[in-house]
Amino acid sequence: MRLRRIEALVVGMKKSGVASVELLAREGARVRATDLKPVEELPEARLVLERLGIPFAQQTPAVFEGSDLIVLSPDVPLDLAPVVEARRRGARVIGEVELAAPFLKGQTIGITGSNGKTTTTSLAGHILNEAGFAVQVGGNIGTPVTAMVDTSRDEGWNVLELSSFQLETISEFRAHIGLALNVTQNHLDRHHTFSSYAAAKGRLFETMRGGDFAVLNAEDPTCVGYAEGTRATPQWFSSQRPVAPGASLCGGRVILDGEVLMDAADIPIRGLHNVENVLAASVAAARAGVGHAAIASAVRSFRAVEHRLEFVRNASGIDFYNDSKATSVDATVKALEAFPGNVWVILGGKDKGLDYSLLRQPLAAKARAALLIGAAAPKIADQIRGAVPVIEAGTLDQAVAHAYSRAHPGDTVLLAPACASFDQFRSYEHRGEVFKQIVNRLQPRE
Ligand code: ADP
Repeated sequence: MRLRRIEALVVGMKKSGVASVELLAREGARVRATDLKPVEELPEARLVLERLGIPFAQQTPAVFEGSDLIVLSPDVPLDLAPVVEARRRGARVIGEVELAAPFLKGQTIGITGSNGKTTTTSLAGHILNEAGFAVQVGGNIGTPVTAMVDTSRDEGWNVLELSSFQLETISEFRAHIGLALNVTQNHLDRHHTFSSYAAAKGRLFETMRGGDFAVLNAEDPTCVGYAEGTRATPQWFSSQRPVAPGASLCGGRVILDGEVLMDAADIPIRGLHNVENVLAASVAAARAGVGHAAIASAVRSFRAVEHRLEFVRNASGIDFYNDSKATSVDATVKALEAFPGNVWVILGGKDKGLDYSLLRQPLAAKARAALLIGAAAPKIADQIRGAVPVIEAGTLDQAVAHAYSRAHPGDTVLLAPACASFDQFRSYEHRGEVFKQIVNRLQPRE
């Protein structure tokens, strides 16, 4: 892609938009920037735009006129009317990952899926790093891909978390190892249908070439379908049955390419979903050239990503886990399934219109009590009543205090709220931080 003197517009001035502006300016494009917000509300972007002398205009349909290349941030829909119009008149519309593609050196592991991307990306990066590979981790997970270009090396690896929004416009971007964890109903507000959401993720495999590896979940029909549309060689993982080539969970052991890699009990992150993430990351690392012993040892030393079933501490024999990222009923079910029982689970926050009665069975099986906080508490109470003792705790402080005063040694206190955080906290990260502060302040019980 030649960028010199091209008329480019970057839409959305968050981290990846700003990094796109910087790359385009460096490559000699004539860049303009836009956002729904006025520039005064975008202090970080403003600094960069002023430094580079990039004009900014608040977003209106007219802003989209006259550009040959439009780079969309992940939260800008492709079917926005002025974007559709720009494409019709021949403008090229891409995302930040595609913009970075021609400049990114080294080999790439691209990881997508509806759930588990961040964990699997961090784990794959950790394995390569522990094995002594030159590796950088980014994409959806933190550093935008355009901001990884400068530090990329011919002999190095880029491990990238990729969302459907970043993938739907790729054509030059290519992963040497592509990985799909699972595809479940998600983001239908943006993609409208399940099949277009699945197709957006599937782009990852369509740009791969012979000699590349597509690591796919053998138990997920959509992932299995990706094997049809790729020139890469399919590799499989399954938590249910032996598969080859690839990794599976058999009789409590992780089997990689026909050899025992490790006991599943030695995996330090909890739950069957995390076993699947380990299987997937292990296959990807093996195809990148990491030996089995190095993979097993790196998996053992991996710690959960913050706010994802993160172990906080043991106080007076009681374990505390922070799964503040569990903002849906589905994720809370996964979290409960990860424990043998005796869980005091903290639920509630801002309701996203979900059906909490789906928690009844897992709560009855695993929980001693549900402690309710936040605005969604009355609705949750109505929908789970009778399945488990319900305590209306109101706040996170009260919920922790109540559980800590009644739990037995060996019990677990789990924050897995099944709700968004915005009624009482700035974000799920903020909620998880506050939880950890409260837990870390607990005094030993008498
Ligand atoms: P993502 O980046 O795709 O949101 P995370 O690694 O942050 O994924 O995990 C988010 C939540 O998704 C976890 O708290 C867990 O509930 C669920 N999850 C993680 N891995 C998987 C998996 N392999 N299959 C199903 N659910 C998963």
